[in-house]
Order: sequence, then structure tokens, then C-alpha cells
Amino acid sequence: MSEITYRLPQKRSLVTELPGPRSRALAQRRAGCVAAGVKSAVPVYAADADGGFVVDLDGNSLLDLGAGIAVTSVGASDPRVRAAVAAQVEHFTHTCFMVTPYENYIEVAEALADLTPGDHEKRSVLFNSGAEAVENAVKVARLATGRDAVVAFDNAYHGRTNLTMALTAKNMPYKAHFGPFAPEVYRMPMSYPYRDPDGFTGEQAAARAIAAIEAQIGADQVAAIIIEPIQGEGGFIVPATGFLPTLREWARTNDVVFIADEVQTGFARTGSWFACDDEGIVPDIITMAKGIAGGMPLSAITGRADLLDRVHPGGLGGTYGGNPVACAAALAAFDTMRELDLPARARNIGTIIESRLRQLAERTDVVGDIRGRGAMMAVELVKPGTTRPNPELTGAVAARALEQGVIVLTCGTAGNVIRLLPPLVIDDAALADGLDVLCDAILTLGSAR
Ligand code: PMP
Repeated sequence: MSEITYRLPQKRSLVTELPGPRSRALAQRRAGCVAAGVKSAVPVYAADADGGFVVDLDGNSLLDLGAGIAVTSVGASDPRVRAAVAAQVEHFTHTCFMVTPYENYIEVAEALADLTPGDHEKRSVLFNSGAEAVENAVKVARLATGRDAVVAFDNAYHGRTNLTMALTAKNMPYKAHFGPFAPEVYRMPMSYPYRDPDGFTGEQAAARAIAAIEAQIGADQVAAIIIEPIQGEGGFIVPATGFLPTLREWARTNDVVFIADEVQTGFARTGSWFACDDEGIVPDIITMAKGIAGGMPLSAITGRADLLDRVHPGGLGGTYGGNPVACAAALAAFDTMRELDLPARARNIGTIIESRLRQLAERTDVVGDIRGRGAMMAVELVKPGTTRPNPELTGAVAARALEQGVIVLTCGTAGNVIRLLPPLVIDDAALADGLDVLCDAILTLGSAR
């Protein structure tokens, strides 16, 4: 494994109050031109970013435990990605793959066939966002099966377009007042070990979902099941062992397309190339985005050739999908992931985070659950000594961490989960420092109730 080199110092440093004067001035300009519906988790404006740090306009250096929502796994300024983007831009920025195609789109599709689970014949299509990938996976599944119904799960998050809003579980802020939603989407119970009855196995949780599918829809009406192998926005919910394989098998038996939404979990995040690998699951179609291209906008679906090749020519595409600059970035990001063995690094980060959070849990009764895998770890916060969600404490903890220069994101249907998604190139000392700040905030604010 090669050493990671950083362009910026990997150290927290606050030189103004947060937000500082330059960020405050920009916030004012923003209010006069950017729609209020776009919300930012952090009130400071970025000027630079590298490794595990974001530097704001006022010169504050913030430790980033969110990676722009699981995107900058190779860092926001990976040398290979920078060089590949610069080299591509020297030639052309766009021709449109649907008009005059180019090689690096094909190279990305070849790489995805290689990296994604399963050694069957595969085909890929490239898009721009996670939601667009999900929409297209569902299009393929409906065409290939001739069926309409799509099964999604409690706490799911699949995006903000009309179909993906329908697939997403949480009303505020994602769905409220934005309906009517796309039809033929059915929501089924998820395996949620912390909130399921004690001893409830993954197989039992799958049987519960399957019974509901068969009773409410009918297996022969279902085009696809779409599921995040570890739920992201919904609260980093890791289903009980056996849940995913049982569902996957049921899908196979009933000719239902099994779509794994790995937009958040993919590309080394969980310690494998994909979270499906951890349970030996081979999905029919996998959706990918976020970590795929070192921060450049790119998404993809990769799936069974016999499914994807059913779609008529022209049925899949988009003006920008598989933009050549984004493809160049993706190929460079894959090289960095291999070169730095980022799956191993993610496992290592997971071990560090989990042991620190377990120590914390011994000292407070507001930690309900610690869960996740690899560099996708979370702590679910509850009212003292209960299992009742504690979103107020969660928001206060994130705000306290930020005051000290540490960016942490929250998630969960009840808004009571702190999620840790550091860039996989984060420095060990910086990670330990960030965990100290976070644990101290939970301990202090948790004891104040
Ligand atoms: N699926 C999952 C699992 C996600 O986590 C997200 C984004 N948080 C999406 C889909 C949507 O991706 P995008 O925001 O790129 O449309």
C-alpha cells in the first residue's frame, strides 16, 4: 500500500468564529439569489479541501467526517483525479456519448463489470446522479419483466426525482407537498435489529417482508425489489444477517429483479468494493454514484446483460450521462482505491470508530445503538435509558462538533443518528481527534439531557 500524500495540513484550526465574516457575507448574497429550499448542513463556505479537511473562506480548517455525503472517498483533491481531469479537459469536455461516443465511457463500463459482484455477463449505462441511476434501474426491470410493481423498504432513501421520492420513505424534507408520487411503489418492513423484537433473525425479517409482498401485491406482479444493503439516509441500518440473502433468493425464484442501491455503500466505503460482497449477494442490477468518481458527477447502473440488452436502442441515455471528464475522474479514482487499498483502509477506519464509540457507550445512557460497517458507522441517540429517538440531542451534538471545527452529518427517519463517513484517505491522528470531539459532545450534552 502506498503512502497517502496531502496537499493541505491535516489539522483542525479555527482562526475566526464560525461562520466567519467571509462566510457570513456569502450567506447574505446567497439569500438574495439561491432558493431557500436548498439547505446546507454547515454554514461555512469552502475555499479548498484535501484529505480529511475542508478549508473555509476565512481560513478555518475543518475536519470532515462526512466526505460530502460519502462522495470524496479518495479525498476531495486526489492527485490522480486532478491529473486525469486536467488531461481530459485539455482535449474535450463533451461530445455526448449518444452523438459521438468516446473510449473512457467504455473503459468505465469495463471496470464496473470487473468490480461489481458476480462474474456473469454484464452491461452498464452511465448517468449523472444517484436518483437517475435508480430511475433507470427501475425502467430496465419493468421493461424486462413486463410487470409494474416495485418494492421498497421502510427507512429507504433513493433520491428526490418523482419516482425516487415515491421510493423514499421519509416525508420531511424529501416528500411533503411534492406529490402526487409515481404509482405502483409498495413499502415493506425492513430488518432493523435495534428496533425489531429481541432475537428476531434476518430470515424471520425477510419472511415478514415476503409475506407482505405476496399478500399485498402478488409475486407475479412485482418487477423489482430495490434495497440499500445498508440503509444510508434512513439511519445506517444494517439488516440482520440472512435478511438480504433470503430476499435475494425469493427474488430469483419469482423472476423479480433484485436491485441493490449501492449509491452510498459502494466503492470501498464498507470495507469491500460493494456492501453486497459482504454477504455474498449478487444483485441483478446495482446502482452506483457518490464515491465512483472522486467528486465528479457520475452515476451508473451495471446489471445482467440479458436484462439490460432487452431495452431498445435509444431507450436509455441522457445528454450528459458518462461525461468524459467524469469518466476520466472515475478511472483515476479506481486506480487510487486499488493503489491505496482503500477497502482495507475502510475496515481499519471502522475498527477505530467502533472501538471509540463502544468506550463512549459505557459512560452514557443516550447511546442506543452503534452500527455500520467499515467507514460507514453510526451512533443512534436515544432519550436517557430508553429506546426513544433523541433528535434534539443529535442536532445539538452535530452543532457542538461544528463549533469545534468537526463536520458530522446526521441521518435517520427520526433524525436521531450521527453518521460517520470520513474520506477513506483521512489521517489516523485526525480521525482520533474528531472522535474525541464527537464523543465529548455526546457525553457532555447527553448528561445534560
Ligand atoms: N440512493 C441512495 C442509497 C442514496 O444514499 C442517495 C443519495 N443520498 C441516492 C440514491 C440519490 O443520489 P443523488 O443525490 O446523487 O441523486
